Order: sequence, then structure tokens, then C-alpha cells
Amino acid sequence: MSVTGSALLAGVMGWPISHSLSPRLHGYWLREHNIHGDYVPLPVAPSNLEHALRALPSLGFRGVNLTVPHKEAGLPLMDSVSDIARRIGAINTVFVSGEGELSGTNTDAHGFIENLRLNAPTWRKNDGAAVVLGAGGAARAVVAALIDAQVPKVLLLNRTVAKAEQLAKAIGGSIKVVDWGDRDEAIKNAMLLVNTTTLGMVNQPKLEISLSALPKIAIVNDLVYSPLETELLRAARQMGLQTVDGLGMLLHQAVPGFEGWFGIRPVVTNGLRDVVLKST
Ligand code: NAP
Repeated sequence: MSVTGSALLAGVMGWPISHSLSPRLHGYWLREHNIHGDYVPLPVAPSNLEHALRALPSLGFRGVNLTVPHKEAGLPLMDSVSDIARRIGAINTVFVSGEGELSGTNTDAHGFIENLRLNAPTWRKNDGAAVVLGAGGAARAVVAALIDAQVPKVLLLNRTVAKAEQLAKAIGGSIKVVDWGDRDEAIKNAMLLVNTTTLGMVNQPKLEISLSALPKIAIVNDLVYSPLETELLRAARQMGLQTVDGLGMLLHQAVPGFEGWFGIRPVVTNGLRDVVLKST
């Protein structure tokens, strides 16, 4: 479909932006729903972020996603910010109102919990702790989602312990910080293990952990989706544990943005997954 002046517009701002999977993802839903619109990659240098965001209403954009390195810098530039984004300390989705105001939210927590709900329906949050590895941006969303889902016990481990302590304080709730060196023991009796570090990503070191203490009914979720089956997930699968890959979170976090910009709540399907996978 060719784009005309009446097309509904959204996009993603990042620096660089060429790696982003979001144009392919939203483009799939636009075609699926026959919407006259477009979702474009917008290379915006950090020094231009404020100008670029403020230009959105006059350019006719319904909104944008923000990706690396803009997620934290974008927050104070909004006219309003959702509670969840404030707690996480970062925004990834911007909506432009009819009056030209910018509101920011963070849909990563939604994407994480929705992916688990659909792909790990056997997870029982009351039957054991959720263990989260890492305390970066993704971890903030994951921990906020677990606390909001009323998971009674969250154990947080990070190489830099001070960052884990800051995260626990910022999010609040029942979060216990454990030393990074104690990860093999921390997972004893855990029902959920989530890797939010960059370890295991292509061109990154391996995540060193022994899963032997994990109960047989535990679920292992890796946020890393490149490769799709990380060494952590492969080891878990070989032990007969249930695994959840990181691509589902990426797809589910996109749902609220698409709905807000284009007016239809899209569904995450295997067709979408296949199309996005082709570009990873
Ligand atoms: P980030 O803010 O840069 O955080 C990186 C984390 O990895 C920190 O906790 C860091 O620990 C840890 N780390 C890095 N190198 C390490 C090492 N050698 N040993 C131990 N820990 C190490 O990154 P992020 O934005 O949170 O992203 C993290 C991962 O999640 C990436 O792979 C990203 O692609 C993925 N992600 C996936 C989704 C999805 O939708 N599936 C969404 C967001 C992010 P220190 O604090 O000690 O440095």
C-alpha cells in the first residue's frame, strides 16, 4: 500500500536505529488490519531528541517508540508520564494527544508478564521465588511486573550489587538482593529464573550458572533473543525444564503502542513471530 498524506503515522526513535525489529513488527500488523498508515525508523541523535519529540505533533505523528539510548532521556521531556514508567525510570512508548501533548509510558513490564502468562501457564507464583539476574533497564521492568503481579518473593542478583540495591529501593516490595556469586544456590526452590543481563547474547560472554538446584517444575526465561535459544535456555531444555524465549516479550510490549496509535488491539501470532524472526 502506498502512503499518502492522510496515513496514520508512528515510528521508532533510536541512535542507531537500523537494527530495530519494530518497523517489521508494526508493518506486519498494519498490513494484517489493512490500515492506511506507516511505522518508520527515525535515526535521532541524543542531542536532537527533544526537538524530534516536540516536532511529532506538527508532523502529524500519533506517537513513537523510544529505544536505546533514549528511554531514560525521553522521560523528563514528556508532558505526562504513566506510573509504571516513573517506577521503571524509562519510557519506551509515546502517544501524541489531539492537543499535541506528549504522554510517555513503558510497556516492557506488560510485555514480560503477558509473554509469561501465555507461554508459561503452569507458572505458580506462590510456589517458589522468582530469581532475576541483572539490574539494568530490562530488569527494572521485569521486577516491577513481578511485584505488580504480587509475586511474594523476588531474589535479585547483579554483578554490581549497588545497582541491584538501587533497583530494589526504586521499585519497592518484597525484593531480596543476593550476591552475584551465589547464583547457583539462589535458584534452589525457585519457580522462575529470568536472565535480564546481556550475558549469552551474540558477541557477549556466556552466562555461567549451574541449573542443577532448580526444581523440575521451574520455568526459565531469557530476555536475550539473539540467539533465540541461548545457552541458558538450551541447558534448561536439556534438563527437561520449561523455557520461554525473549522474542515473545518484544512482541507483546508492542501491543499497547499499536492500539493507541492505530486504534486496533493487535494479536501476537505465530505468523508475526515468523516474520520478525526472519530479521533477527
Ligand atoms: P543494560 O541496562 O545495559 O543492563 C545490562 C545488565 O547486564 C546489567 O545488569 C549488567 O550488570 C549485566 N552484565 C553485563 N555484562 C555482564 C558481565 N560480564 N557479567 C555479569 N553481568 C553483566 O541492558 P538492558 O537494556 O537491561 O538489556 C539487557 C538484555 O535484555 C539485552 O540482551 C537486551 O537485548 C534484552 N532485552 C530484551 C527485551 C525483550 O523484549 N526481550 C527487552 C529489553 C531488553 P552490571 O550492572 O554489573 O553492569
